[in-house]
Amino acid sequence: MTQFINADLHCHSIVSDGTLSPEALALRAKANGVELWALTDHDEIGGQARAMEAARLAGLRYLTGTEISVTFAGTTVHIVGLGMDHTHPALVNGLRTTRGGREMRARAMSDDLLARAGIPGVYEGALKYVDNPELISRTHFARYLVEAGVCKETNEVFRKYITEGKPGFVPHRWASLRDAVGWITESGGVAVIAHPGRYKLTANEEYALFTEFKTLGGQGVEVMTGAHGQADYVKYAEYCKEFGLAASRGSDFHSPEESHTDLGKLPYLPGSVTPVWELLNSRIH
Ligand code: AMP
Ligand code: MN
Ligand code: MN
Ligand code: MN
Repeated sequence: MTQFINADLHCHSIVSDGTLSPEALALRAKANGVELWALTDHDEIGGQARAMEAARLAGLRYLTGTEISVTFAGTTVHIVGLGMDHTHPALVNGLRTTRGGREMRARAMSDDLLARAGIPGVYEGALKYVDNPELISRTHFARYLVEAGVCKETNEVFRKYITEGKPGFVPHRWASLRDAVGWITESGGVAVIAHPGRYKLTANEEYALFTEFKTLGGQGVEVMTGAHGQADYVKYAEYCKEFGLAASRGSDFHSPEESHTDLGKLPYLPGSVTPVWELLNSRIH
């Protein structure tokens, strides 16, 4: 009956685009009743040692984590890795390469915001919110555009700017699905399709994503995530059976001010699926 474990295997710290430190996240997770935790910063494992130590001090079981940006069928898909050796060279080098294009993309986003929307200085403004110089994200742009009074809240920024077709959007080529799944599995981890309900894929493309992911050695999919509603819970629990995947659970918490799902506050996994942590017993710290 391990589906009744309060696992939260997806969240972000200041090492990517969250606003809390790994230590503050560990304490918040503990206070919210989380029993098994993973920090999954975008394209980064720089916070793993801190998160693991903070989890130990808080009495939380811990799985290493990351969330890799992938380009699939022309759109961005996120693949969560859990339980990797976060010092493995394949993973460390792969993630470093994936982060590499962010700086140029950020400058181009800022140029486009000036050219198409007349908003100056967004690169410099966004940098004020960046803790890790290798990880400037659209979230940091969104925070600055709120500060600058361009939008009332970050959600509004993602409706009006920096998304496809809107000012400030710069297409970017991330890792391939094959590489992302490869780095995770080579370093001893389990690859998980993050928040599948969020992607704008056609039914055929979504089928191709799950089929290729499985063929490449992917083993899990997020069923319970902050981005899913009831219909998604049912749909992706079914996909677990159809594709022979384990199910994961993670809030995708970024910030007390911005995130509507807090750490540890999702419903439990349904009884019909295999929890992904059953594949990761030997990897839990
Ligand atoms: P990036 O990796 O720089 O493209 O930034 C992607 C991040 O932007 C995601 O991980 C989310 O944190 C955030 N994001 C994307 N779309 C939205 C949205 N509609 N509302 C709020 N945050 C979003
Ligand atoms: Mn994010
Ligand atoms: Mn994501
Ligand atoms: Mn995330």
